[in-house]
Amino acid sequence: MGTASRVAIVSTGDELVLGTTLDTNAGAIARTLAALGYEPASFLVLGDDEEALADAVTRLSADHAAIVITGGLGPTLDDVTRHAVARAAGVVLVQDARVLAELRALFASRGRTFLPANERQALFPAGSTVLDNPGGTAPGFALALGGALVVALPGPPREMLPMLEGELVPRLLRNAPRAHAVAARALHLFGLAESALAEELGAAMHRGANPLVGVTAKDGVLSVTVRATAATAAEAEALAGGHADALARRFPAQLFSRDEPDLARVLGAELRARRVSIALAESCTGGLLAARLTSVPGISAVFGRGWVTYANAAKVEELGVPAELLERHGAVSGAVACAMAAGAARRANARLALAITGVAGPDGGTPEKPVGLVWFGVAIDGVVHAEERRFVARERELIRALAVNTALDLGRRALSGLSGDAAR
Ligand code: ATP
Ligand code: MG
Repeated sequence: MGTASRVAIVSTGDELVLGTTLDTNAGAIARTLAALGYEPASFLVLGDDEEALADAVTRLSADHAAIVITGGLGPTLDDVTRHAVARAAGVVLVQDARVLAELRALFASRGRTFLPANERQALFPAGSTVLDNPGGTAPGFALALGGALVVALPGPPREMLPMLEGELVPRLLRNAPRAHAVAARALHLFGLAESALAEELGAAMHRGANPLVGVTAKDGVLSVTVRATAATAAEAEALAGGHADALARRFPAQLFSRDEPDLARVLGAELRARRVSIALAESCTGGLLAARLTSVPGISAVFGRGWVTYANAAKVEELGVPAELLERHGAVSGAVACAMAAGAARRANARLALAITGVAGPDGGTPEKPVGLVWFGVAIDGVVHAEERRFVARERELIRALAVNTALDLGRRALSGLSGDAAR
């Protein structure tokens, strides 16, 4: 894609560069514009510095179709956006009589005194279009600068977001630099190495590929986005859909959802749809699995209880794990994971039970049982089996998060093995 679709997003404010406020505007704008077919090409964060902002606007206008600036539209001297854009465009600031009248009326209606400083907010670079701000006092503006459209929006997200949808999007749709449609598909996978997926995706991950595939990874979940552009919406949909379907066929066992990246929600929905009750027995995850499952609204229909059995004695007393198994195999073993799952299923009278026992570190690892070794027990309708994972992660919290997602995925797989699946 050439300059015709490139967008630069500039966030301004000393509080952003000092790190006291996190820039959330740029990401929100990028997501919205990407969905319109624009290419967010760069983010820039600047302090309240008129000269630096003017220089940036001048530079970016050379090779971007649009520059979206947020912040710095307030009434105080550190609000410099309108001055900076006027400077970059080589135009003067002119007072907008309608905006000035509206500001005076707004202040009067709220019983506030209209100070000379507030007149700043009625100043705009000559030639710009005023963008109304229904949620605040500072209107935005749009100005053509060379081949680029410069758009200034207020900083507070609660004012910026409605203007993004109400003012910027319609304007960009009208000025759409090129007539083509965009379609996107998502796939969420678990139990696959990111490198294995990248291998499979190959050239589709190269910049400029169409469809273009992107992957993000979190706690073992790989979320794939397939974006396609074409002359028509139907062609773009077909291109993105075809590519996503091919990937789905390549990894049928790892694909767990096309719209929901949270394994707990996916398992929760399956349990409810199949009316299968679940129980949990956790050691090294200390209740994190139960927390994840209970974050799913409506899960009480299928989940009644879980146990945190951290000590060996707890595993014996609460779940009926035979002491002899613990002595012979150790707490982190397939035999104990199975006994934990079987005990939980029995005592909760649940059809499905998931158990986790592992070495989360940083201490406690041995050559035979290193940090990252986790055993899972799965009991379903009286049949129990164990699964072993050796997570290469070394960080305690990451090992625990990976263990929770693995257990949720094992639960999902156990359900998909139940009869009736062929009909689905
Ligand atoms: P105002 O009229 O409210 O002063 P403004 O356009 O001058 O509007 P700023 O002064 O730059 O906006 O920012 C006001 C507040 O908005 C900031 O203190 C911050 O809390 C929030 N804000 C600004 N920019 C961002 C951003 N990029 N991401 C998230 N919050 C932001
Ligand atoms: Mg301000």
